[in-house]
Amino acid sequence: MTKSTPALRTIEGIYKPPSLHWVGDGFRVAGYFSAIPNAVQKLDPFLLLDYHPPYHYTPTDRPRGVGVHPHRGFETVTFAFQGSVAHHDSTGAGGVIEPGDIQWMTAASGILHKEYHEAQWAKQGGVFHVAQLWVNLPRKHKMSPPRYQAITRAQIPVVPLPNDGGSVRVFAGTFGDVPGPAATHTPMNIYEMQLSAQAQLDLPIEARQNLSLLVMEGAIQLNGQTPAAKHDFVIFENDADAIAVQATEDARLFVLAGEPIGEPVVPYGPFVMNTHAEIRQAFADYSSGKFGHLAD
Ligand code: MN
Repeated sequence: MTKSTPALRTIEGIYKPPSLHWVGDGFRVAGYFSAIPNAVQKLDPFLLLDYHPPYHYTPTDRPRGVGVHPHRGFETVTFAFQGSVAHHDSTGAGGVIEPGDIQWMTAASGILHKEYHEAQWAKQGGVFHVAQLWVNLPRKHKMSPPRYQAITRAQIPVVPLPNDGGSVRVFAGTFGDVPGPAATHTPMNIYEMQLSAQAQLDLPIEARQNLSLLVMEGAIQLNGQTPAAKHDFVIFENDADAIAVQATEDARLFVLAGEPIGEPVVPYGPFVMNTHAEIRQAFADYSSGKFGHLAD
């Protein structure tokens, strides 16, 4: 008699980080999806991942960042792991994303905003470690009113793993029966996992969700045989409902899973719509001031 083992998802590919580039003068990021063929199809509903690995900024009285720019048709989700991010937008909203917080901004019909290092944090300087994920919206929500979810560290559940294996911060979806705080327009699961060396975990993610993970720190072995190193980005096929993860040293992972929206994606700079005509309309609306106004 053979022992049945649960089927595990095949690894589609393991991708090294592209070279770092600056967004404005405050965000030194690896734009992972830019280096992956057909990333937007493979990773639907996710459109972009700008990962800012830990980097030390010197103190300054003039906070670094990125100036006023628009978005339409999707959501920008900012994860502050270390350092504080401030933002202001054309609806008059603003705030600070403190270490451990996330900001889930639904740009939808359109906003102008600016993003930069929080002023007091910038005066002190220090290590900055953040990520920004762009999440697509289905056609029926692309022109909805903009909204924010300011999710604080205290609102994000931390689920301990058995045998002192580490812990999981649940941002969206559920881990086991623990829900994360983010309200999403389509089903997804987004986690940060801290794994102790040698910890082993079977992670169930239903096959229809596109699944990827970034090794932020440490090193892991996947499905009992495939190593993934620090800063590797791993994409899985949709051929089973789980993966097996083993930490070969203390590791920290960023896990992105989402059910594909399955609609045409037409990205153009800060706009992501379903058709070229909608992109032209976004430019026309932006030029004519329909995104509102925001001072530099
Ligand atoms: Mn932005």
